[in-house]
Amino acid sequence: MRYLILSDIHGNWEALEAVLHQARDGYDAVLCCGDLVGYGADPNAVVDWARTHLDAIVRGNHDKACAGMEDLEWFNPVARAAARWTGRTLTPENLDYVRNLPRGPLDFDSFQILHGSPIDEDDYLVSTFAVSQLRNSLDRAVSFFGHTHMQGGFLLHRHGVRRIPKLRSDADQHALELDPGSWYLINPGSVGQPRDGDPRAAYVFYEPGARLVEYRRVAYDVEAAQKKILAAGLPPLLAERLETGN
Ligand code: ZN
Repeated sequence: MRYLILSDIHGNWEALEAVLHQARDGYDAVLCCGDLVGYGADPNAVVDWARTHLDAIVRGNHDKACAGMEDLEWFNPVARAAARWTGRTLTPENLDYVRNLPRGPLDFDSFQILHGSPIDEDDYLVSTFAVSQLRNSLDRAVSFFGHTHMQGGFLLHRHGVRRIPKLRSDADQHALELDPGSWYLINPGSVGQPRDGDPRAAYVFYEPGARLVEYRRVAYDVEAAQKKILAAGLPPLLAERLETGN
């Protein structure tokens, strides 16, 4: 079994399309670690695709915000404006789908998927210290998470926690063989709004039987996504940041 694992698509259809094109024929099932919508100008295209193609998904904080389930006062003004626009723009069916997405973690045989952290879906896992406190909260030796929009993740072994770096900017794939004695929190990176300094859309393949995670990046039509964001009247910052990946 080979999984395509996506996270933080954020209504960016151009990025999702590029990922699906590059990944085509390479997987048996597709999973998502949350944030289908918010920020990007194509929430309906992304949710239409999700409803028919995703095998499993957990909700993200922006999914909750756009569906009116979150107090928007906690969001910065740009995210708030995007959440309100997305809530108004989603069709009733798509809004209903987003509102009913399950809370993570979601367990599979040998791994789990979640949005922020295993103990709080809205927490950001950025420091090795924070990750070192989570050992007893992990139900599986391999977990996939999102929320930070930074590809890579963490390896937990007997002597501590190590950061797994993102793909180098001159590479478009890297295979990581999982050590049976270690635990892993893997971040596929963000499809639709990378914030790790690499503007390319990010994702992973995962093959539990081979204990293999394959990190991937793919360039997409950033300009087309930017034009749609500006035409929709969304904050220009959301278009600008796609270019730098920050
Ligand atoms: Zn996100």
